[in-house]
Amino acid sequence: MQQALRFSAVVPAGFIVEGATFDDAAAAITVRHTSRAGACPRCGWSSGRVHSRYRRHLLDLPLGGKPVRLVVVARRFRCDAVLCGQRIFTERFDEDVLGPRARRTARLEQIVYHLGLALGGRPAANVARRLMLPISNDTLLRAVRRHCSPRFVPPTIVGIDDWAWRRNQRYGTIICDLERRRTIALLPDREPATAQAWFADQPQIVTVARDRDGCYALAASKALPKAVQVADRWHLMENASHAFLDAVRKSMGKIRRVIGAATIDPKLLSAAEHLQFEAYLRREEINTVVQAMAKEGIKIKEIVRRTGHSRGLIRKVVRGQRSDVFRIRQSSLEVHLQWLDEQWAAGQRNAAALWRRLKVQGFRGSLRVVSEWATRRRKAEKVDGGNLTRAPSARTIARLLTFGRDSLTKSETVTVAAIESGVPLLIEARQLIADFQSMIRTKSLASLEPWLERAKSSLVVSFANGVVKDLDAVRAAIISPWSNGQTEGQITKLKLVKRQMYGRGKIDLLQARVIGAA
Ligand SMILES: [Zn+2]
Repeated sequence: MQQALRFSAVVPAGFIVEGATFDDAAAAITVRHTSRAGACPRCGWSSGRVHSRYRRHLLDLPLGGKPVRLVVVARRFRCDAVLCGQRIFTERFDEDVLGPRARRTARLEQIVYHLGLALGGRPAANVARRLMLPISNDTLLRAVRRHCSPRFVPPTIVGIDDWAWRRNQRYGTIICDLERRRTIALLPDREPATAQAWFADQPQIVTVARDRDGCYALAASKALPKAVQVADRWHLMENASHAFLDAVRKSMGKIRRVIGAATIDPKLLSAAEHLQFEAYLRREEINTVVQAMAKEGIKIKEIVRRTGHSRGLIRKVVRGQRSDVFRIRQSSLEVHLQWLDEQWAAGQRNAAALWRRLKVQGFRGSLRVVSEWATRRRKAEKVDGGNLTRAPSARTIARLLTFGRDSLTKSETVTVAAIESGVPLLIEARQLIADFQSMIRTKSLASLEPWLERAKSSLVVSFANGVVKDLDAVRAAIISPWSNGQTEGQITKLKLVKRQMYGRGKIDLLQARVIGAA
């Protein structure tokens, strides 16, 4: 025999239903507690003498798609204990069912808390509305704050890093328990003193993984002098790459010189440029001959006599003022180049049509100038935009030099080959950086000392000096299984939570949501 649904089955345990009303908007259920007596909160005396009754209005779980208002008829009791100063006390209920001053039943409060924790104020309020729980976003956030006590198991291995409250303006500090894979503290700033104070309360910590800018290193070594510090491997790799970029920047002068002469592919040149290029080669030849003579100690006057060139020119060459780079001249087109480029990009590639329109704009040159320009553009596009005159940026060169040879285009290969033969110091630097990174990847600590020795007289010496300054932490980074990579992951989570809070990210609330959620 099936049992009929009774109201007492839907209200919290320990209450019996006195009455219920349903209308279109909501349900109201009036209940009272089953116990006959109440315990005085001051002395514990159990009293059954009722002084008066009053009604508490509470929100409970929705029922049949409608919000439920629970009206609890509560009693006031008299305390008869002679020595208790409390004459009258109000009825208390089990905290798991109904808190003393709660406005919601405990079972609803749990849902409110978890909604707020998972979604943050406003999104949680939206979901709550659909669940027929009329609760504002402030209420949700208050519930999160109220229930979260950021307690944690004392950690032994932590990661510490900074995170942006607001990019470039305000930073906080995040501390993670790397063993339990969870965030355990958010500090309101990234001052060494703040981190130091936190560390000082956790003397059991044995390992601190941190990034390489000295502030957390300082805090950890002051508060936890015996703890091992681990430099962040990802930052080490990145700093190494950056050191190579710096080396390229330092060598840009040399690079320009070697690829200025080397990237000229005579096949790419137009007829007129061919003539210019040959003239350039002749100039270079004269330069070499004249400089050779000057080196032998032959006087300028004698060089002038032997070569037939002017005194002024010979003097320039001897002083090294004529080591030029081949450039294509585009004198008459120069002012129209931007317009031409736009037309070209828009698909206007007929030289004759372009020339006619240029004439209207006041261009005086012949059709041939324009058609040679068009030919060069077409050829350059075929060979991957082959930059005939401009050296690529330092960043591009660094990338080309570190890429796999197979993934380079034809013209890139020419550039790389020219640099490799012309700037050997840079190639040495590249090898050093590659060795450093592979040392980190393969955890081969033994290679560190010889590496530092080799790097001393190289282009990446300042990076090597940085490593020496932080040597213990770098050593630990090579061999330790712990890394700050995990902390970075936690920061991503933190940012997500922070964004959900629409700028209401006070640190206690953020802490409650990030740490409570774990
Ligand atoms: Zn009492």
